[in-house]
Amino acid sequence: MTAELLDGRRYADMIREELASESVERQADLGYVPVLAIVVLRDRAEMGSAAMASASDVYVRQLRRTARTVGITARVVELPTRSSASELLATLARLNAESQVHGIIVQLPLPAHLDRSILLDAIDPAKDVDGIGAINAGALFLNQPARVPATCAAVMEVLDRAQVPLAGRRVVVVGASAVVGRPLALLLLRRDATVSICHIYTRDLPAFTRQAEVLVAAAGKPGLITADHVRPGAVVVDVGINVLPTGGVVGDVDYAAVRAVAGALTPVPGGIGPLTNLMVMRQTLRSLDDHREPGGAR
Ligand code: NAD
Repeated sequence: MTAELLDGRRYADMIREELASESVERQADLGYVPVLAIVVLRDRAEMGSAAMASASDVYVRQLRRTARTVGITARVVELPTRSSASELLATLARLNAESQVHGIIVQLPLPAHLDRSILLDAIDPAKDVDGIGAINAGALFLNQPARVPATCAAVMEVLDRAQVPLAGRRVVVVGASAVVGRPLALLLLRRDATVSICHIYTRDLPAFTRQAEVLVAAAGKPGLITADHVRPGAVVVDVGINVLPTGGVVGDVDYAAVRAVAGALTPVPGGIGPLTNLMVMRQTLRSLDDHREPGGAR
């Protein structure tokens, strides 16, 4: 068997077109262009030399390009890397208060001296278009409408576009982080899948993953999922992004070996990655409804 390739780039092209026309319609209706604020902590002097700075350049450039293609204005808000928690929070408070800003995203990881938990209630939930705040996480947990982490939305989008049935099916998520594994498991549960979450302390991982009709790898460990981990014919989604010492990028799945066993498989690169920024844009466009109807359902 050779797995069907779930081509994220092809899906991304389709979604980009859909969002661009949705954006045109909403702008005609509202009379303004939606704005996404991208908050980045970095030092100009380091740009292009330090690894962190160039990673953040790539991040900002990709978000800006994606925003442009779907008719959203990206506004980059730069703060020095050494900024204190209160300086970052003051910037976010200012953006929360600006009615012309419809979505806010903060580049992660934060510099080492800042704890990510300061962000839990720092962004207005209606503008939290990457679903990092506690209100949106709580809404997801309570099975209420919520903005969710873009990566999780991207996984659900690929499964839906590939018409993978979820209700009643056995789904295993490898990875239990607050930004990927956990919210993704809740989204899958919301769709009536029978979900197991595995993590670094799971004993006999293959015994779990071999049961999966849909297997999602989100551990950040190259080669973790081998052919022995995969039930023949399963749908395998590889969320991992691992940069090798050679500079190449691979996922968590042993692609060549698993392709011979799985029924369908997302590649890395070119699987989940291309959809992630588009999911941020989609949640920004949908935020416009909240701006129009303050106090409406979120
Ligand atoms: P994380 O380090 O916060 O969490 C990793 C999780 O995997 C933990 O729950 C850990 O217990 C589990 N894990 C680690 N090693 C394991 C092992 N050997 N066996 C079983 N479980 C193991 O990472 P994260 O932020 O959740 O990201 C996970 C991966 O997804 C990374 O490769 C990251 O780069 C990638 N990622 C991709 C996107 C995207 O857009 N495609 C976005 C975010 C993260």
